[in-house]
Amino acid sequence: MWLPTMPDPPEVPMAIPQSFIQELLARADVVDIVGRYVQLKKGGANYMGLCPFHGEKSPSFSVSPTKQFFHCFGCGKNGNAIGFLMEHAGMNFVEAVKDLAQTYGMPVPEDDASPQERERAALARERQATLSDVLEKAASAYYKHLKSSSTAGQYLKGRGLTGEIAKAYGLGYAPEGWRSLASVFPDYQDPLLVDSGLVIHHAEDGSEDKRYDRFRDRIMFPIRNIKGECIGFGGRVMGDGTPKYLNSPETPVFSKGRELYGLFEARQALRESGYVLVTEGYMDVVALAQWGFGHAVATLGTACTTEHVQKLFRFSDAVVFSFDGDAAGRRAARKALDVALPFATDVRSVKFLFLPAEHDPDSYIRAFGPEAFARCVTEAMPLSRFLIDAAREGCDLSSAEGRAHLASNARDLWLTLPDGALKRQLLAEFADLIQLGLHELQSLWQPPNPSPSKWPRRQNQGEAAQTSSTSAAPYPRRFSTDKPPRGLGRQLPASRADHAVRLLLADMRQWQDLSSEEHLMLCELPAPHGPLFAWLDSQHQEHGSLPWGALREGLREHPSEALALKVMDTGFEVTPMTHTDEPSPRAMSEQALALESAAELKALLTRLLIERLKTQETQAIASAQIDPGALERYRALQARRRSLETQPEV
Ligand SMILES: [Zn+2]
Repeated sequence: MWLPTMPDPPEVPMAIPQSFIQELLARADVVDIVGRYVQLKKGGANYMGLCPFHGEKSPSFSVSPTKQFFHCFGCGKNGNAIGFLMEHAGMNFVEAVKDLAQTYGMPVPEDDASPQERERAALARERQATLSDVLEKAASAYYKHLKSSSTAGQYLKGRGLTGEIAKAYGLGYAPEGWRSLASVFPDYQDPLLVDSGLVIHHAEDGSEDKRYDRFRDRIMFPIRNIKGECIGFGGRVMGDGTPKYLNSPETPVFSKGRELYGLFEARQALRESGYVLVTEGYMDVVALAQWGFGHAVATLGTACTTEHVQKLFRFSDAVVFSFDGDAAGRRAARKALDVALPFATDVRSVKFLFLPAEHDPDSYIRAFGPEAFARCVTEAMPLSRFLIDAAREGCDLSSAEGRAHLASNARDLWLTLPDGALKRQLLAEFADLIQLGLHELQSLWQPPNPSPSKWPRRQNQGEAAQTSSTSAAPYPRRFSTDKPPRGLGRQLPASRADHAVRLLLADMRQWQDLSSEEHLMLCELPAPHGPLFAWLDSQHQEHGSLPWGALREGLREHPSEALALKVMDTGFEVTPMTHTDEPSPRAMSEQALALESAAELKALLTRLLIERLKTQETQAIASAQIDPGALERYRALQARRRSLETQPEV
């Protein structure tokens, strides 16, 4: 038995937001962090090594990459990456967070740490502010150059842009010449110019340092963060030069995978139009604004990322992705589909607009006008249509093989969708296309149970042992799928719910694979279980799957924290003992463990559903005399229960 020994964070209210700590723990890899100090060897799903906290000759110190947790079976020490740095490297909580944040390049938000820490944080902020100042200064210099350059002015006019729009977006011009910025920044050697990405620095052996402007003879598009600060630039050539588009490099203030061009400028129009239009280039954004579509934004020469989509949905519930009609546009659209799927809840709308092959939004709106473009937006393809198209691609639906191929293509896409009405309708559509019954397809995509031949069944060890999570007895790692002994029935639901909590906290990825019936059932369990599952669901919507190490941080002071700690305490997946009737858990691959845990969860949930249906049946019967619909409800509930009970292994 082991108890979580990770030191609690300081009692004073932490000014580092909890969500940051969770994000940090989700990004960090405890195996890497521990691996800096302890030699680890892969053994099954985990890594093993000699415990750094007590002297030992054979390894009993285990690190789980899926849970993002370490645990020593010898001395009981355990915790996440932050805990390890605190315990082993002697850091305090804030120092450990900072160390980790630095390792993963994540700037730590506000804190109220020691004066030195505060000073360091202030310096970092100041530095970011300074970088922003430098960029801002360059932006206004580029803007002035635009006014005085007739070529650049003519070019923008030729593209149909007025001075008003150019001003609204702060467009500018970077003149020809290698060191034009030297006239703006008297100290051209200032390292800030290099750090901000404005100047390129080449140090060559034996010769003098070479410094020159990154952007030369280009139309400049300042990229602003949501606060309106200039964080970088996009530069476009006016002629046929290459590269056509050049962006600022990644800097402490600029990350392409997170930022969207035009989002700051689009705020007002976004609220008015009710949707956001995502394009592929800054020229599209500016041209669309010129024609009255001020709510367009653009990715910065990268495919759409999860962070982009998250950001978009913070500003609007409706997103229209616009892509060029060529093959590259189609590929980009497919990528956007993949990242948007987990966010496509029933209250949101995601559409895909495909322009004719030779057009981008800029050229299309100039050729056909704003009404034609508005029609394109109205007729854009809904996500459901595009998802089906994407899955069907290359499948010959006239043959059984082709339909099976479709089933396999569609499965992952469908499973990624959040539960809801859209997901269910798509299941029905796919069932039609694949020519399988709805339930057949669902059981194909979400197998209710493991194949018995693959997963040897454990002898029934008695359910009672599993109810006690504080028991010192070695925990039976797997939930027995045998029938419970008679007489223990009343005790069981709580233990099953405990067990479901443990499986889902240990591998949250399983949450999204559950049916909405199962989600609802779990979230409606009495406290503390139900509220814990509801919390898990909200975490899933916000962050996607998080490892246990990150969930544990998020649960601090949650009413169900004690339950979570209690069940996780009993269930580290490596048990110090091995069983002769099956391979040692250490020897099992991660994938096998995941499969097994999914099967275990499924069986468990089916039992919980049956319990719930029985209660509902009793309630229906009780109200049959006053409620004419109750009898019918009773029959439906009973039929559902029987169908669950006849599933193998239940
Ligand atoms: Zn130890």
